[in-house]
Amino acid sequence: MKSFPTSLETFRNCPRKFDFDRNPDIKRRYRKPSQAMFVGTCVHDALERFFDPQETPVPRRTHEVLVQYLRDAWAGKGLRGRRALQRREERRQVFGDDRETERAAGERAKHMLWGFVRTQDLSVTPYTLELFHEIPFGGRHVLAGKIDRIDRDGETLRVVDYKTGKAKTAAMVREEDLQLAAYSLIISRKFGVPVSRCSLLFLQESVEVGFEPDPAWLAAKEEELLGLLDRIEAEDALPDGPGKFPPTPNPLCSWCDYRELCPEGREFAAREEGVPADGTDEAPPF
Ligand code: SF4
Repeated sequence: MKSFPTSLETFRNCPRKFDFDRNPDIKRRYRKPSQAMFVGTCVHDALERFFDPQETPVPRRTHEVLVQYLRDAWAGKGLRGRRALQRREERRQVFGDDRETERAAGERAKHMLWGFVRTQDLSVTPYTLELFHEIPFGGRHVLAGKIDRIDRDGETLRVVDYKTGKAKTAAMVREEDLQLAAYSLIISRKFGVPVSRCSLLFLQESVEVGFEPDPAWLAAKEEELLGLLDRIEAEDALPDGPGKFPPTPNPLCSWCDYRELCPEGREFAAREEGVPADGTDEAPPF
């Protein structure tokens, strides 16, 4: 089974959501791009072109160029293959004709990139950029990930992942994260080179949160990843029924695209939001 750390994090948070996510028909029908997702994707697209030494040699790496790449990505230009069409469709779904909301979102994205050029080393030539990597894992699995950036650091490598959400502390990342741990395992085993630092770059606050992925931390995370894979296999082996891949109602239910399919999540979110799950208490005025 090929698994990505982000989907394993989804399983850890809610097995039902994980199961919906891997069903292409359900996903196509219910997963809607959000504004945050669209902005994050465009920022990633822009940074990918910005650090591609063929397209943007170091002397050309300015804020203006980066913003132009952002504008291109937003409009579905300068992207290869299906990504251009995807971006145009996502933009239509997220903003429709609401130019004012779109302008505000664009300004927020530009602000993130302004923070980025002010605080980051722009002269980096990445070892790999926005590439998929994978390794055999635990005897019968494949652990895979699309890694934003791998940089060289002498004889070692560094993992960099961009985040456009709210920043976390290093302690929170060490505790909760599976992504950086999985990437560190993948890279060190695939290239046979140690990882000296793994970092999340929180672009809203221009904050880099990183640390050396020490062997004890990696071993604990590897055990957690394998434990999640075992639990997924155990769920897969169960007969179909409501007990398979059970829902875990949680504070993220309010933003879950599958709420319509999930009575438990709807009920939980309604309680959190203080409104009845089905309809309102107020009688219709007729
Ligand atoms: S609504 Fe909540 S419980 Fe239901 S699938 Fe989504 S995250 Fe899970």
